[in-house]
Amino acid sequence: MPETDSVSDPDRRLRAAISLVSATPGYDTVGKDLSNLYDRGKLEFVPTLEDRGQATLGGRLLIGPEAVYDGLVSLAETLVHEHWHLRHQLPLEKTASFWAGFVTGKHVMRRYEMPAYKAALQFLAAVEATFPHFAEEARAEQNSIHASFAQFYGGPLTS
Ligand SMILES: [Zn+2]
Repeated sequence: MPETDSVSDPDRRLRAAISLVSATPGYDTVGKDLSNLYDRGKLEFVPTLEDRGQATLGGRLLIGPEAVYDGLVSLAETLVHEHWHLRHQLPLEKTASFWAGFVTGKHVMRRYEMPAYKAALQFLAAVEATFPHFAEEARAEQNSIHASFAQFYGGPLTS
């Protein structure tokens, strides 16, 4: 069972969020992969990071203070989002999406971000359906993902 949301140490919070991912039906494999990354020092808290999270070209996942001190569900969702970038996209897709944004006049990075946002939404729906004590936070988080995608990328999250 995942820990509750009461710990303040960043590493314990990261491990608690990874546990939540692992305990969510359908996310066992993602949870294991995150756990392996963490054990190998490739998933880490970076106090100076301005983003919530970042998947680096070198195959690392960096998590910033905004995400680590957010709710546990929100932190877990950030891990799933960044994990999607890391495992389902080639490093150069970020650059490609950036330039595609200029060429097509669509918001820069939209093409790159859309599937990761969707993966995060799917995860939150599974959390909501599985854990009654996290359901409210998972619901609120889904709303805020829709809102922030619309705000940053200028349109709804559609297929
Ligand atoms: Zn992203």
